[in-house]
Amino acid sequence: MSANKKLLMLPGDGIGPEVMNQVKRVIDWMDKTRHVSFDIAEDLVGGCAYDAHGTSLTDNTLADAMAVDAVLLGAVGGPKWDNVERDRRPEAGLLKLRKEMDLFANLRPATVFPALAEASSLKTELVSGLDILIVRELTGGVYFGAPRGIEDLGNGQKRAVDTQVYTTSEIDRVCRAAFDLARKRQSRVTSVEKANVMETGVLWREVATQTHADGYGDIILNHMYADNCAMQLVRDPKQFDVIVTDNLFGDVLSDCAAMLTGSLGMLPSASLGAADESGRRKAMYEPVHGTAPDIAGQDKANPLAMILSYAMCLRYSFDMIEDADMVEKAVETVLDCGLRTGDIMQPGMTLVSCQAMGEAVTAEMDKLAG
Ligand code: NAD
Repeated sequence: MSANKKLLMLPGDGIGPEVMNQVKRVIDWMDKTRHVSFDIAEDLVGGCAYDAHGTSLTDNTLADAMAVDAVLLGAVGGPKWDNVERDRRPEAGLLKLRKEMDLFANLRPATVFPALAEASSLKTELVSGLDILIVRELTGGVYFGAPRGIEDLGNGQKRAVDTQVYTTSEIDRVCRAAFDLARKRQSRVTSVEKANVMETGVLWREVATQTHADGYGDIILNHMYADNCAMQLVRDPKQFDVIVTDNLFGDVLSDCAAMLTGSLGMLPSASLGAADESGRRKAMYEPVHGTAPDIAGQDKANPLAMILSYAMCLRYSFDMIEDADMVEKAVETVLDCGLRTGDIMQPGMTLVSCQAMGEAVTAEMDKLAG
């Protein structure tokens, strides 16, 4: 294996460094056992970068992120930085990274491991075997649209404005990503918007339909309003294969799908950009959860979402399908054996620390490789 796979690790704040340490353990294992080596650099982002440099993302870190094959990010933020000015806050650094790297497609799988089906807030039979992929548009829409702001009307009133805005090409490229991914799954895509009440929804539906007609005849496309999709996700989630939607609806619906799986601590994500001439896509992999300030520094965090994010990195950035499958299988087996961090603890299971969970995953990989 070549040694020139370049990874940038940005552990971030709170439990970020703790869960990233367990990914390092898996990477060390792969280096020693499979002779897969990465060029790994590590840097600061978020609150820790603000403390060190007065900004949550330095230009150097951004340049490094643009140059590597993939970025692995923990999580950013926490109460310590709640009063920092908006454009220097931890979240601003993360948003800037996503925007500058042009990571327009956010992939959030919601998969229910058999051992955890009972942890879902829904009935076991509704979620057992669930395997949905939500593709959320990540760089456009209402989180970035202009004008935005709060103006003082001078009469004791204020007026706040956000702008939801999408262009044809922004919708087209994320729909293409969803159709391409669906081809490797069950070939079904549900495009979600609110064409009944929003102009962006009307355009979204029109472009999704056109893009589908342009070479994706093998994919079944249907359209659904976002409010109905929220209802369907908790009524009958297994009806979905791939859901593609805008930034705002994707934010809400993917958190809703997250809870079907039982815990935030289990959910990985990938954010991909457009492919360059060599086929390489800028990419960032991160767990869906935040910095969990309530348990940070206590070795209680569930590292599996971070480890599964690394598995997605192997799959999507390095095409190392066998290795990705092995990491995921090791996670599944560890859960089958009854090991649980606090967030997914169930009666009769064995409570383990963040480190012990990481050790169990590599021990399982030993067995799978042996
Ligand atoms: P959170 O995801 O950090 O925590 C929500 C709850 O889930 C907490 O009780 C926490 O203990 C638990 N939890 C989360 N991940 C866990 C894990 N891996 N193992 C065990 N338990 C876990 O969300 P929050 O409390 O709303 O936000 C806390 C901070 O994180 C805020 O500053 C927020 O802005 C930030 N945040 C960052 C990101 C990101 O970096 N992508 C995402 C969400 C929130």
